[in-house]
Amino acid sequence: MASGNGSTGEPIVRVEKVAQRYGRKVVLRSVSLEVKAGEVAALLGANGAGKTTLLRILSGLDAPERGQVWLGNVPLTNAGHEIRRYVGLVSHRPLVYESLNGLENLHFFAQMYDLVEPEARIEAVLTAMDLWHRRYDPVRTYSRGMIQRLAIGRAILHDPPVLLLDEPDTGLDQESVAVLTDLIAQLREGGRAVLVTTHNWDRAERWADKIFYLADGSIEDGAEALRQR
Ligand code: ADP
Repeated sequence: MASGNGSTGEPIVRVEKVAQRYGRKVVLRSVSLEVKAGEVAALLGANGAGKTTLLRILSGLDAPERGQVWLGNVPLTNAGHEIRRYVGLVSHRPLVYESLNGLENLHFFAQMYDLVEPEARIEAVLTAMDLWHRRYDPVRTYSRGMIQRLAIGRAILHDPPVLLLDEPDTGLDQESVAVLTDLIAQLREGGRAVLVTTHNWDRAERWADKIFYLADGSIEDGAEALRQR
């Protein structure tokens, strides 16, 4: 397991007894977890276990039916528009513009986040994502891995304290996974709270300080689930 400085950080993400249903289907029964500053947590679970559902709740896209979420000291329900500044989300859809080039995409999102003089930050992010050399090429010419790296770049652009990464490694080539692994280490170093879902146990172990396993709508200790695998 990766070793971070997480044990000393403040809880940045706090989830208490969150429940969610779609129609009559119970997806999350009672989910509680914490992610601290400088901590990387991996969320594992079978397809349909509810990982995306939980991340959508944490990013303010869906309201939970029951339970509470705090981001820092602020209950999610009161976070309003501030949540966009507080959370960076990499979802299954890359949410980047194919007709624009990489540089234009990040300029667009920098404007959305009201970043002042974003040039240096955009260059740093494109460089970290190994896309600086392709910055003038339209995104439609990018490989799948490059598009995913740009989507990750969009999520970290405003340097939010919380990063929610929903299967960021799906469809990535080895080189892109290495870029992602470096980034996750940097986010930990920078005191960010990271919650990442993946289907890859080995990666979860490599990336994360702790592993949550979602099954039957509740969280189990991932280390225990791993032993029983
Ligand atoms: P995971 O990310 O672990 O694969 P999801 O959170 O995507 O799981 O889905 C959990 C369950 O909730 C699945 O059975 C899925 O079909 C269902 N589900 C997800 N979103 C919706 C929705 N908007 N309407 C109805 N059912 C949904």
